[in-house]
Amino acid sequence: MSLNKKSVDDINVKGLRVLCRCDFNVPLKEGVITDTNRLTAALPTIKKLIADGGKVILCSHLGKPKGEPKPELSLAPVAVKLSELLGQEVKFAADPEVVGPNAKAAVEAMKDGDVILLENTRYRAEETKNGEAFSKELASLCDVFVNDAFGTAHRAHCSNVGVAELVDTAAVGYLMQKEIDFLGNAVENPVRPFVAILGGAKVADKLNVISNLLEKCDTLIIGGGMAYTFLKAQGKEIGNSLVDDEKIDYCNEMMAKASKLGKTLLLPIDTTVAAGFPSPIDAEIEVSYVDANAIPSDMEGLDIGPKTAELYANAVKSAKTVVWNGPMGVFENPTLAAGTIAVAKALAETEATTIIGGGDSAAAVNQLGFGDKMSHISTGGGASLEFLEGKELPGVAAANDK
Ligand code: AMP
Repeated sequence: MSLNKKSVDDINVKGLRVLCRCDFNVPLKEGVITDTNRLTAALPTIKKLIADGGKVILCSHLGKPKGEPKPELSLAPVAVKLSELLGQEVKFAADPEVVGPNAKAAVEAMKDGDVILLENTRYRAEETKNGEAFSKELASLCDVFVNDAFGTAHRAHCSNVGVAELVDTAAVGYLMQKEIDFLGNAVENPVRPFVAILGGAKVADKLNVISNLLEKCDTLIIGGGMAYTFLKAQGKEIGNSLVDDEKIDYCNEMMAKASKLGKTLLLPIDTTVAAGFPSPIDAEIEVSYVDANAIPSDMEGLDIGPKTAELYANAVKSAKTVVWNGPMGVFENPTLAAGTIAVAKALAETEATTIIGGGDSAAAVNQLGFGDKMSHISTGGGASLEFLEGKELPGVAAANDK
């Protein structure tokens, strides 16, 4: 699937003010950026706009300042790091109003090829409500708008949707294009067999993803906390494992749907159990491995078991396309990370196109050192999930068609 939206290759920005919405929502620890993936991912579009002679005005949100200036959530450290990664100064337009006198003066002083970064868009209360006043202010700063923030594409905010509707030209950047090409191709036009792997804590968070992927994939693999609701739906004892009793019927429906569509739905055949959830999460823990139909009533399932890990790794081996979202167990604990590692390793070793949904699975794959072995790691957790649900993303829809 190719995205039928105007891209940075279809516009001429020479001498123009280009507002580029990026996803600079990076993890910060005491003012230091601990993961620069999102910054690196934004570089191709920024470089292209500079090379074309645009005046490049970057903007993003960071964390949840809830509509007021919070110094600890200022984008100032991002400007410093980005300057370093770009090899060119990214001037920070400090301004509590985001588009206030300072920002306007900074834009006024720009020359072609200059880059500035505005303050955290969520310093403004209107941002997350897509309020018109802030959208208009953003639009007044620029001639052209480029949206490269896949991570917020599932939200309709001023800085990605409101502003796009107020400018003559609204295009998407390379990162946005790449995300949609990978995720879109996998879901709509996959090279088969297509294996989808879902894990994570709750079934309720992934209802529509399960249902939509069942229609698109050949094999759906379920692990993580959500697997136990499926096992309970099959009438199995699951002890104190995570369960969503309200979703038992739903799980039964999905199992029926899989067999009606002739799809393979894989559930854990064994599981790693412990006396309780580790506290703190990375505390040393004693575990044992039991078959999925022999979970003791006083134990809790915290990871897939070794037989399941092998079963899932084998299923991946025959795939040509794999999409993975959500860890197989409580991977934050080294003893409970084995299932997630086994799946990550299987993905790293296959020739198939491998796509990792953002959020926890992306973090797990990177942490475990398999990041560079994947075809694509999405920069958006929520956005990639909504994409896998088959929903249209407002941040993408708002850009001009080709
Ligand atoms: P999610 O945000 O839905 O992708 O869920 C990720 C979280 O699910 C991680 O923090 C895991 O620790 C947690 N998780 C995975 N497997 C289990 C399980 N068997 N029991 C409880 N939590 C789990």
